[in-house]
Amino acid sequence: MKPKSVLGSSTAELRDALSAQGFEAYRAEQVLHWIFRRNVLDFSAMSNLRLEQRRQLAAEWCVHPLERAAVFGGEDGTQKLQLLTHDGASIETVLIPEDRRYTVCVSSQVGCSLDCSFCATGRLGLGRNLGADEIVDQVVHAQDVAHTMGNDVSHIVFMGMGEPLLNLKNVLQAIRVLIDPKAGGFSPKRITVSTAGVVPKMAELGQAVPVRLAVSLHATTDEVRNRLVPLNRRFPIATLLEACRRYPASDRERISFEYTMIRDVNDSAADAQRLIKLVRGLRAKVNLIPLNEHPGANFRRPHDAAVSRFADILAHGRVTVTVRRSRGDDIYAACGQLGAVAREAETPIEAETRR
Ligand code: SAH
Repeated sequence: MKPKSVLGSSTAELRDALSAQGFEAYRAEQVLHWIFRRNVLDFSAMSNLRLEQRRQLAAEWCVHPLERAAVFGGEDGTQKLQLLTHDGASIETVLIPEDRRYTVCVSSQVGCSLDCSFCATGRLGLGRNLGADEIVDQVVHAQDVAHTMGNDVSHIVFMGMGEPLLNLKNVLQAIRVLIDPKAGGFSPKRITVSTAGVVPKMAELGQAVPVRLAVSLHATTDEVRNRLVPLNRRFPIATLLEACRRYPASDRERISFEYTMIRDVNDSAADAQRLIKLVRGLRAKVNLIPLNEHPGANFRRPHDAAVSRFADILAHGRVTVTVRRSRGDDIYAACGQLGAVAREAETPIEAETRR
């Protein structure tokens, strides 16, 4: 049986749990301070707690529910962490250094049930939902790696394996811990949740926490989107965009629409024109992601010229557009590559033995 991790609880919840075990009320804050501010993850080193309390914590609780199996370093500085759950599943978390930003891309599920046709994770099917502690722990592990690079994680995106809105309860709990000033201490503005369009859960997310929303659109007609994102058959484009219109966002925030560009599938000038019409009236920005190819994918990345033409048309239509530079594709850490079979050349820069 896995011991309970302190990472699944906000300060108030941990205070209640520890009080029930005889700890003073302020101990929870001390424990979380060690973990999140001082990067001390071993109860025995938490020197302002009494020795017997440290022992009691170590006997009944753990910090990391996930074990780091390997870290793969990409040429561009991207780090892919392979983490193992207590029941033997393997998940991936990606740390993306960019100028002053250090973004961690977290997984919300083992595998994914959505089966988007161009995504490697979809091939795996759904294993299970990750717990809140397992989601928070990905940030803690990434923070640890970021520190070795002399930096702190600044942004969190739920764009790893899985569909966060199909595990909303645990995702929300993880976000509460991450934005708790005495725990993760992140601003909700620096957290983005990406969804393939689980419409009924979008409002619930927005009402619960003021995080940013990203929507994986990828197509401008239902016919094409049905093929790429099977979930579209339940929640077609018009319904999805209606939910976006209702998503609570303050004036300066925009919803990001991710648009994975696939050669001859959704990269035409006509698509760009339709996309302008679709997002009109929404506070939106469009993030173009040229397809990252992976073994077994039968779609192709568009030519660079097609990507720039598409971006130009959007810009002329006064749509804010960015092109996502592919990060970490040499280590299969880029969008839609998580879970893809590792190349043989891929060697971990740090491989820890199992505990
Ligand atoms: N399930 C959520 C979270 C995953 S985010 C969602 O769909 O939004 C990962 C993003 O990468 C999604 O926009 C996904 O559609 C995109 N993606 C998946 N496979 C890709 C690939 N091969 N190349 C580029 N982007 C891809």
